[in-house]
Amino acid sequence: MILITGGTGQLGHALEELCVARGIECRVVSRPAFDFARPESIAACFNAARPDLVVNAAAYTAVDQAETDAAAAAAGNHTGPLALARLCAAADIPFIHVSTDYVFDGRKGAPYAETDPAAPAGVYGATKRAGEVAILATGAKAVILRTAWVYGAFGRNFARTMLAVGRKMPVLRVVGDQRGTPTAAPDLAAAILAIAAKIGETGWRPEYHGIFHATGSGETTWHCFASAIFAEAARHGYKVPEVRAITTADWPTPAPRPADSRLDCTRLRRVFGRALPEWRDSLPGIVEGLLTLDGFSQRTD
Ligand code: NDP
Repeated sequence: MILITGGTGQLGHALEELCVARGIECRVVSRPAFDFARPESIAACFNAARPDLVVNAAAYTAVDQAETDAAAAAAGNHTGPLALARLCAAADIPFIHVSTDYVFDGRKGAPYAETDPAAPAGVYGATKRAGEVAILATGAKAVILRTAWVYGAFGRNFARTMLAVGRKMPVLRVVGDQRGTPTAAPDLAAAILAIAAKIGETGWRPEYHGIFHATGSGETTWHCFASAIFAEAARHGYKVPEVRAITTADWPTPAPRPADSRLDCTRLRRVFGRALPEWRDSLPGIVEGLLTLDGFSQRTD
């Protein structure tokens, strides 16, 4: 039985959907019953579920808010996940945790490997990095997946925001000098369940321990991503706005973003035999889901 945390989030929701579709036994927990800010709730949910494996999809993900809310970010990304990892270590069960490309400052100029030194530029990235380090030190059977630019038909994300704003404004300005790779939540969920299945088949192996990069394949910029989202939406009758590329300097944010956070996912493929799909291949299904759920497909002219 798999215990999944963060059921109200993009990834947690995608994991639950996949488990249900495939008949995989799972228990999905969310706030308020499971809250990293209340350590007793972590143990209570864990003990009630008696899981064989835990997937932690819960996190403090408000990147800009974290700059002024460091204590909550630390609870959600560091001390809370650490408590969960300790429970997994004590029960001797695997713990699959999710981290971020924002542990890097984006100055490498090439895709990052897991062995590259972390250098988070903001509080969110720093708390996620502290969580990674702490989890690895517990001795738990921990698999940590660093992902990036997560989006899906469910939850808050860049694609949903673009389609909502693009419906109201004829011209959008989107940052064109930050590189990375969009990751569809259902693709990441499928990879996580494949990892869980492989651990189940082979038993735990030492090479499973540690950090793995796990984003969609390919790369883009936020501006190109936005343009691709609108191109796809146009096929459903959505009236497309003009999308202008701007620079990071034109769009200041409380938390700095890495200029180039592409991740090299070779280790995931080598150890678990898994590569996430090209981000462009996953986009049509997600955009269709967003348009359907949000009723954005009608032309407004
Ligand atoms: P979401 O923001 O969609 O969901 C976060 C989930 O965590 C929600 O269920 C939320 O609950 C829950 N949560 C927040 N704070 C707490 C807390 N203190 N205790 C318990 N649960 C809490 O995130 P994603 O699904 O997009 O992210 C999944 C993982 O991927 C996270 O580890 C994130 O750091 C990582 N990631 C995400 C990226 C992205 O672009 N979204 C990019 C890179 C990495 P509630 O609904 O109550 O707020």
